[in-house]
Amino acid sequence: MSRTLLITGASRGIGAEIALQAARADFDICINYANNQEQAEAVASQIRNAGARAMIYQADMAKEAEIVAMFEAVDKELGPLHGLINNAGITGKFCRVDELDHATAQRVMDVNIVGCMMTMREAVKRMSTTHGGKGGVIVNISSVAARLGSPGEYVHYAASKGAVDAMTIGLAKEVAKEGIRVNAILPGIVDTDIHANSGKPNRFAERGALMPMGRGGHPEEIANAVMWLLDDKNTFTNGACIPVSGGV
Ligand code: NAP
Repeated sequence: MSRTLLITGASRGIGAEIALQAARADFDICINYANNQEQAEAVASQIRNAGARAMIYQADMAKEAEIVAMFEAVDKELGPLHGLINNAGITGKFCRVDELDHATAQRVMDVNIVGCMMTMREAVKRMSTTHGGKGGVIVNISSVAARLGSPGEYVHYAASKGAVDAMTIGLAKEVAKEGIRVNAILPGIVDTDIHANSGKPNRFAERGALMPMGRGGHPEEIANAVMWLLDDKNTFTNGACIPVSGGV
């Protein structure tokens, strides 16, 4: 029987690849996006072609009301939630801390931290056995930046991902007896638009070459790890923050 999965930021990059792999694993999927309706619809079409149900939903992860409305729409259109992938994330601009403006710092924290916390709240309210749910899975997409600190690039982003790891560990313990597993994947550098959109189009090639494997990663390599965490056979992995980073 298919199960409902909500993936934030699934119109492109890592989130889109998770959506495609999850559809092949018999999940019905809500593809959340911020702006790119056309790309979200393209991912939804591929999912429907694979035989799963898909809906798209525009919601800014920095806005609580939009997050709540999105979960209500998923309840109506796809039915009881089984899983949440917190993938939407932004780096903000590349800069040192002494060049950082408040608006950038605030936006990164609002999307990456508060948004993640609010989606987890809504998911727990639906999936926890304490609330009458049937349990489920949460996977947060963090970053190895949380461990490296990203000096000279975006300490603000690294800090936001450190918070994602902390909330993964805390929530995992909080709901461990309520049928929900909560884990995080910490990607290393991955080939997506995120670098160009933040102002460094060559970053993947340049930084990737300096990595232990001599290359960066690809979205499917991150999605593979997410699928492992989503698997029902994976009953004892909880509160884990797992680097998928080619050895970084
Ligand atoms: P990406 O290619 O830039 O795609 C970002 C996705 O998130 C898009 O679907 C975008 O929607 C959506 N999004 C952005 N801001 C949003 C908001 N405020 N509300 C809702 N959706 C929003 O990013 P990516 O590289 O796949 O990254 C995905 C996750 O992996 C992020 O959390 C990122 O921090 C993490 N990560 C990435 C790398 C890397 O090297 N790529 C490394 C480590 C961790 P639109 O298409 O509508 O804009």
